[in-house]
Amino acid sequence: MSTTVRTRFAPSPTGHLHIGSARTALFNWLLARHTGGTFVLRVEDTDAARNTEASRDAIFSGLKWLGMDWDEGPQVGGDYGPYFQSERNEIYDRYLAQLEASDRAYKDESGATRFRMPDQPITIDDLICGSQTINLKEQGATRWDAKLKKDVAANPDLVIRRADGSYIFHFVNVVDDIDMKITHVIRGEDHLSNTPKHAALFEALGAPLPIFVHIPLNLNADGSKMSKRDQGASITDYIEQGFLPSAVCNYIALLGWSPKDDEEIFSLEKLIKRFELSGINRSNSRFDFKKCLWLNGEHLRRLDADELLQKSTPFLTEKNIPLDDPRLPAALQLIRERAETLDQIPAGIAPIFSADIEIEEKALAKISGRKNITDVLQGLHHSFADQSDWSEENIKASIVATAEKLELKMGALMLPCRIAATGKAGGPDLLPLLVLIGKNIVLDRITQLIAKL
Ligand code: GLU
Repeated sequence: MSTTVRTRFAPSPTGHLHIGSARTALFNWLLARHTGGTFVLRVEDTDAARNTEASRDAIFSGLKWLGMDWDEGPQVGGDYGPYFQSERNEIYDRYLAQLEASDRAYKDESGATRFRMPDQPITIDDLICGSQTINLKEQGATRWDAKLKKDVAANPDLVIRRADGSYIFHFVNVVDDIDMKITHVIRGEDHLSNTPKHAALFEALGAPLPIFVHIPLNLNADGSKMSKRDQGASITDYIEQGFLPSAVCNYIALLGWSPKDDEEIFSLEKLIKRFELSGINRSNSRFDFKKCLWLNGEHLRRLDADELLQKSTPFLTEKNIPLDDPRLPAALQLIRERAETLDQIPAGIAPIFSADIEIEEKALAKISGRKNITDVLQGLHHSFADQSDWSEENIKASIVATAEKLELKMGALMLPCRIAATGKAGGPDLLPLLVLIGKNIVLDRITQLIAKL
């Protein structure tokens, strides 16, 4: 009988949801979903001094925003709870008693409880990092004394409970993985060096080892270690900047995992289908914000009209774009061809909905020196005014006719026309944009720009 896969994400609620942690969560979640297994959320909140409720909430809401639901854990419960380590002391006491009963743990002279490090070397096989063998007893027999600047004799046995009764991370982490029947421990490579200790504890508690999967680190673009303040580090920033959760998951997945082909665009469903542990890379990944933006643009273009409206709504509301304007769906279709994030949408379509526009200085500077600029704008005004049907074809015909009359190329008229109508030198496709702005407003704005020159 095959065992059902049980993975877990075990954050310590001491900060925001970091992109590296989100990636750990995603790989655990994807493996569970890919195999029809169970994804457990366990909060490692034994460090009372550093835990905050705000951090816990940011982790929960970040996971939910990304689309990672948990089958067991806070808010949903499960058969192996409680899922906060701070509420599991009785369970830890029970496992400790088991170690004491088999003489694998003892109280030292300070009152702390220590786990007897095994004499034999321990071998761990990590799915990504390979196999390593280490003799923990030998290794712990000395410690570096910073004052004396040399190794001095030390007690190699691992403290698992402090004299004040509080438990140490290594012990509770292992007890929970045993008690919650975790089959795969997928976590950051920074925990690899802890793993031999954990393996010794598993063995002493008579439990089989889970499959260890340590994911290489994710570094900044320049190869430095990513810190909290670096661009792209916090999931909250992605939410605020108008990223789509599917794009962020896509991006995070590719930071450390590759499909067998060169495909790059993945919905969550496709990730679930394609994700396999064998695709996890063996080398560190580097964060690439440009790629993340590009992927977001790709996901934006794949949303259907209703989803696009729904996802854009908070950003539109913030900038007072009227949600009930019948031109809104067409405006959204138009802007999404160029936008990379949702928060770029309101500015791109504002000229359609605002009564007044501001002519950007740098846009104006591009045309104000042209010697025939007034002729161009007057010519366009004249020809546009004659159009009774304000369609893309007719607008284009007006621009072509005006260009011919002035012996200019059509391209030379597009920028002045855009700046007059929108105040900006760039933006969505001009012809459909002019249709949406409306003839009379375009005419008024051309007149206003002529007056300004
Ligand atoms: N609470 C640990 C951390 O946030 C998790 C360790 C683990 O996944 O085993 O780093």
